[in-house]
Amino acid sequence: MKYQLYTAQNFRCIPQIDRLSEEQIFNIEVVSKVLPFKTNNYVMDQLVDWNDYMSDPLFRMTIPQRGMLKPDHFDLIADLVKKGAGRSEIMKAAQDIRLTLNPHPAGQLDHNIPEMDGTRLMGLQHKYDETMLFFPTQGQTCHAYCTFCFRWPQFTGMGDYRFAMKQADLLVEYLRRNPQITDLLITGGDPMVMKAQHLDTYITALLKAGLDHLTSIRIGTKSLSFWPYRFITDPDAYDILKIFSKVQAAGKHLAIMAHFNHPNELKSEPVKQAIARIRSTGAQIRTQSPLLKHINDDSSIWLEMWHEQIRLGLIPYYMFVARNTGAQHYFAVPLSRAYEIYNAAYKNLSGLARTVRGPSMSANPGKVTIDGITEINGEKVFMLHFIQGRNSEWVNKPFFAKYDPEAIWLDDLVPAFDEKEFFYQKEFNSLTS
Ligand SMILES: *Cc1c(COP(=O)(O)O)cnc(C)c1O
Ligand code: SF4
Repeated sequence: MKYQLYTAQNFRCIPQIDRLSEEQIFNIEVVSKVLPFKTNNYVMDQLVDWNDYMSDPLFRMTIPQRGMLKPDHFDLIADLVKKGAGRSEIMKAAQDIRLTLNPHPAGQLDHNIPEMDGTRLMGLQHKYDETMLFFPTQGQTCHAYCTFCFRWPQFTGMGDYRFAMKQADLLVEYLRRNPQITDLLITGGDPMVMKAQHLDTYITALLKAGLDHLTSIRIGTKSLSFWPYRFITDPDAYDILKIFSKVQAAGKHLAIMAHFNHPNELKSEPVKQAIARIRSTGAQIRTQSPLLKHINDDSSIWLEMWHEQIRLGLIPYYMFVARNTGAQHYFAVPLSRAYEIYNAAYKNLSGLARTVRGPSMSANPGKVTIDGITEINGEKVFMLHFIQGRNSEWVNKPFFAKYDPEAIWLDDLVPAFDEKEFFYQKEFNSLTS
């Protein structure tokens, strides 16, 4: 299958575009001045149901919607477009809006980038002891962009905010000096946009180095959903699968961390074939997704998605809360509702699918999960715990926040029982000051 890319520049060439009204086409033009937009022929032709595209999850997942910009931001750009403003005037207005959208959540730029011999390693993030993230230079884009993407700044030319690293030798040396790291998570963007030859350079360097403490290599990817041909018919598809087999043969675990948001992404023949091929290399596929209004904010969607994943041999891993960045106001689901949706689906799963954890917020102190809503001594509270913490001592310790039906993120929560701060707050302040 030949990859046909659609962006803000050429989206009018999408074959089905004449089904949209003039107003909808204008909305796409306006929103895509501020937020990244990219989709492709597989998503448009095989995933979107055009008979009901306005409520179609795959349409909403890749095509910009008016509501993704706050009304005053939308009007500002719309006016500029209507009066035929020049490119640089629109770019400047767009950039001012982007800076109000919390382009760098969870302290990624300030607190997670490691140093070695006085140099900051800009392509790494090392926040949790045992799992390090690696952003290879060639993997910092995707086969399509999710409208809700939390890494959106790196796709809008906000250059300062980009992570990426080319040198495999620095990566290996850092791993050698940090034997507490068991897992390397190769991420992006989407590392599976890389040519097999580039992926091979990194994987070979890692395997050659031995690094006995490194038990697992993970690859975070949305390509099973947005371009399954990566593993079937792309010219180097077979080379990709050979690299996966090589990891297994070297005595390490390869985990594909696949990003699926809706059961409709699991139904096409190409995705089923791609899954089967990856599994035949000995790699496991684990799945994760944020919970998103307009896309998957219904427990029956999650139940169906997890059932289908089990049928295909995938392992459900995380349900995330939409991060506090970009178009969060449009996609956010309140924490109380997130818990209800998670729990309503979870209750109806067999044990094989109860490997999933969530709903979880990847916040600055760590990954915080909502375990329940209950009443203690007459006070309604959220029960919470860390599934990952900046300090691993915080993990699994139960803690409580005042119930707030509107809260959408950890920052909105206050401690229950009139306590002044959460148990981790002092130490968190000192770790990040
Ligand atoms: C989620 C995450 C990880 C991986 O955590 P696991 O619990 O090992 O899946 C690593 N680094 C960062 C910054 C993360 O957000
Ligand atoms: S695949 Fe991931 S990084 Fe790429 S656009 Fe979607 S959420 Fe963002």
